[in-house]
Amino acid sequence: MSRYWSAVVHGLTPYVPGEQPKLPNLVKLNTNENPYGPSPKALAALRGEVADSLRLYPDPSGDRLREAIAGFHGVTPGQVFVGNGSDEVLAHTFLALLKHDLPLLFPDISYSFYPVYCGLYGIDYRQLPLSESFEIRIDDYLQPNGGIIFPNPNAPTGRLLALSEIERLLQANGDSVVVIDEAYIDFGGVSAVALVDRYPQLLVVHTLSKSRSLAGLRVGYAIGQPALIEALNRVKDSFNSYPLDRLALAGGAAAMEDRAWFDETRNKVIATRTRLVSELEALGFEVLPSAANFVFARHSQHEGAALTAALRERSIIVRHFRNPPRIAPFMRITVGTDEECAALTGALREILG
Ligand SMILES: *Cc1c(COP(=O)(O)O)cnc(C)c1O
Repeated sequence: MSRYWSAVVHGLTPYVPGEQPKLPNLVKLNTNENPYGPSPKALAALRGEVADSLRLYPDPSGDRLREAIAGFHGVTPGQVFVGNGSDEVLAHTFLALLKHDLPLLFPDISYSFYPVYCGLYGIDYRQLPLSESFEIRIDDYLQPNGGIIFPNPNAPTGRLLALSEIERLLQANGDSVVVIDEAYIDFGGVSAVALVDRYPQLLVVHTLSKSRSLAGLRVGYAIGQPALIEALNRVKDSFNSYPLDRLALAGGAAAMEDRAWFDETRNKVIATRTRLVSELEALGFEVLPSAANFVFARHSQHEGAALTAALRERSIIVRHFRNPPRIAPFMRITVGTDEECAALTGALREILG
């Protein structure tokens, strides 16, 4: 606290990111990073950008990257907005499209950055409880609102909502924007991008941090009809005209174009997830059905906090959420390599005795 702070800063409750410890030999399964590394073609494109041209500003509209994204999804570049990580894309979305008189709706158990953006921008919101089995119930969202946002698959549960349910929501909710945050969709779901042409209120947000293994590069994007994209560009050009640097634009485009690497690595993650789930179940865990690169698991006899601490003593880091209390028994475990997951289940076997 300082008397030099603005009233806005006094009132903020910032997001707390998962820790990035700098310890050697750590099995790091806490922030849903991809264990396989970026496409070699993306790395080559990055190296190609380390040149004298770095003295020049990058393309403010990221045309080449937007073309690569549009090509991947079968949309037009005018339907694509790019940003410095999907967190930035989401931040601009909250200000550009979700700040209205009626409250924004999102689940009580969801990406914990959403209430933070509401705090930053002064957006009224209402959190709707997931069902007993941690599912989003679309009927709860059929009420007056200033916008709707949720991740699909949801985080930190990993549960997938069927595309038909999203379409049912869009049919009933035409007067406000619906944002589907598809950070994990490539690990087991069908993207709502297919619905963008038919629903002018739909915005779908993606990141290159998870399925394309580029968390360190900071690239995210949104796909929607041009009127929504224009709103995002108006905010972006009132904030930072060059959010993506030359490296991010080149590496991101090459990553989008390397479909073979994308498919090979995400399929490996999916196969490891299947094995991890059965091993955890054999150890007495209940694991929610996951369509993401993480699983959400609880043990009938052991608290999530205690297990997380015991794993940490063995240099294995997973994520635990104290709040809301309903999820305190769980651990969120990123799907690493087979070896990392074996280290995790081996340690749990010891801890559980
Ligand atoms: C990881 C994540 C993001 C943020 O991704 P970045 O592109 O790295 O900013 C957004 N939404 C959800 C649900 C996530 O899990």
